[in-house]
Amino acid sequence: MRKHLLWAAALLLPLGLLIGCAGVRAAAAAEAPETETAEEEESGDGQAVSLIPTEKLEGNPLWVKKVEDLPEDFILGVDASSVIAEEDSGVKYYDFDGQEQDVFATLAGSGVTHIRVRVWNHPYDADGNGYGGGNNDIEKAAEIGRRAARYGMKLIVDFHYSDFWADPGKQMVPLAWADMDLEEKSEALYAYTAESLEKLNEAGAAVGMVQLGNETNGAICGETDWDSIIALMAAGSRAVREQCPQALVAVHFANPERDGAYADYARRLDEGELDYDVFASSYYPYWHGTLSNLTSVLSQVANTYGKKVMVMETSYAYTLEDTDFAGNTIAEDSGVAKDFPYTVQGQANEIRDVIDTVAHIENGIGVVYWEGTWITVGGDSWETNAAIWEEHGSGWASRFAADYDPDDAGQYYGGCAVDNQALFDAQGHPLPSLQVFNLVRYGNDADIVPQQIDPVRVTVSGGEAIQLPETVDVWMSDNSKQALPVQWDVTQEELDGMSQGAGETYTVLGEAAGESACCYVSVAGSNLLVNDSFEDGDTGWTVTDLAGADELYVEDKATDSLTGTKHFHFWSAAANSVEFTLEQTVEGLAAGKYDYAVSIMGGDGGQTDIYAYVKVDGETVATAPMAITAYGQWDTAHIDGVEVAEGQSVVVGVYVKCAGEGGGAWGKIDDAVLRPTA
Ligand code: CA
Repeated sequence: MRKHLLWAAALLLPLGLLIGCAGVRAAAAAEAPETETAEEEESGDGQAVSLIPTEKLEGNPLWVKKVEDLPEDFILGVDASSVIAEEDSGVKYYDFDGQEQDVFATLAGSGVTHIRVRVWNHPYDADGNGYGGGNNDIEKAAEIGRRAARYGMKLIVDFHYSDFWADPGKQMVPLAWADMDLEEKSEALYAYTAESLEKLNEAGAAVGMVQLGNETNGAICGETDWDSIIALMAAGSRAVREQCPQALVAVHFANPERDGAYADYARRLDEGELDYDVFASSYYPYWHGTLSNLTSVLSQVANTYGKKVMVMETSYAYTLEDTDFAGNTIAEDSGVAKDFPYTVQGQANEIRDVIDTVAHIENGIGVVYWEGTWITVGGDSWETNAAIWEEHGSGWASRFAADYDPDDAGQYYGGCAVDNQALFDAQGHPLPSLQVFNLVRYGNDADIVPQQIDPVRVTVSGGEAIQLPETVDVWMSDNSKQALPVQWDVTQEELDGMSQGAGETYTVLGEAAGESACCYVSVAGSNLLVNDSFEDGDTGWTVTDLAGADELYVEDKATDSLTGTKHFHFWSAAANSVEFTLEQTVEGLAAGKYDYAVSIMGGDGGQTDIYAYVKVDGETVATAPMAITAYGQWDTAHIDGVEVAEGQSVVVGVYVKCAGEGGGAWGKIDDAVLRPTA
């Protein structure tokens, strides 16, 4: 599957609505269409702008639980960085009545108070071809900020301080700064920030917050030691204070689930005396732990240092369908934590629960939804879309990005991996979930109805009768689960046949409460390994640490396991500190041929050398390469037909060596199988 850089690690302010950081520059009334849900107010220079709705939006079909005690000035933001590239690509956006409308009007009319926009220094190659991801330089950001301000929305400026995507996996220095020492780079960053904010002010954007980098987990702008990181951030902060004195200064990190990470970042920023206001986190529930953990780590920062805290990025899939022919990060086999159904209601519930969580953290000031407007460009094939992505930059990366980022964007360029997480459907119509930004203030008492049924699993020994469950848990629109009767579409004869299929997994479909159900039936095979899925800890396995890794152990975490609840886990922060073997010895095999398979997933590997191997009587007879790419992307190695003579000793294993990048190489190994060749 195509790699998606946006997820490689594993990706807000009082309503003083009209006060931009350089004063009010509201657009003329003629440019700001009045809507029924918006009020109008005289701005400082006598021009009218539309405001966010002050009354509950009626007619929404979704169940929304009111967020109690939500502050009036709570930031309810949407990152809309791709909008201009999307429009250039021919995408049209509509209002809730099916009429074409400026997407910023629709956002504001749905309760959105802030628009976030990423800014890259120079996302273009030497010939002026855009790298993609919206080709978001400061000019694009100014246009987005100007349009957002017309509808009373403030701008959150997300400086990546890179020429293209910066995230926990990489923080590449802009080409123009590549040869500078730290002092020169700090000066350049200061000047660039100041000039950029000036452009935003001149365009009429209402800058409400400015980020010093994007998901800067221990790196920014090519620097990885904290003195340098803080020096660069301080230069940016100084420029914000001078150019936009009313704006909040934010730092932004990812991976709240990593034990102690945020406490460590906040302590370093405090010791380095960085001048900032907001400690912001990404929170993607697929990978980033529980909301109670998020509360805990953000509260620690808020309470210890008196900082404001918020969620700067979150999103959730409303469907598993892909609409642009570029595979999605969250798809059928993603294997990620699923706390809500993949429906429009589930998406609304996710947004509501994240808002509810942050609103009840000390100093919690807001939540921003990531890329709510990034949808398919609408062609009917990958080829059609690819031509559009390349021309207008509406895919995540174009082939031109190879110039700057040959290893990632240059290899895996393409379309949008998150079109199933947007707040608009593939045709550009807003989803009812968009109005959750309004409805959280009031609640919406719609009927509670069935949403979705997660697949269930049954495992039997070969020849054993297969018993399918009589009820399944049906996910309801209030996010509760109800055990309801299920009708499976299978005959007894078919089940009897399946029970003979040692080593096979079958799919049985069914129906409950009008929703489709699915049961995977696994018939155990003749696996010759003991503890093949690590459910008994490290029993039977030998680990040899060759480079002093920080973490090598069997972990009990179902969402990170391929099957069962446990797997073998590795992680290490320092470069080149991941090198180990994990192996099991099998004696007394009958003479014959054998097949071996084992699975791995992980990320931040940098340069890697990973392979499965089989040794017979101490000699390696076969290897098969493996790759770690992204969370949930399991890679299974197969070594088939290994010949074993009577009395020979067989060792099966995995060798892992990673240079590491970003926060350090990590991964999970699970489900080793050795069985006679069929
Ligand atoms: Ca897609």
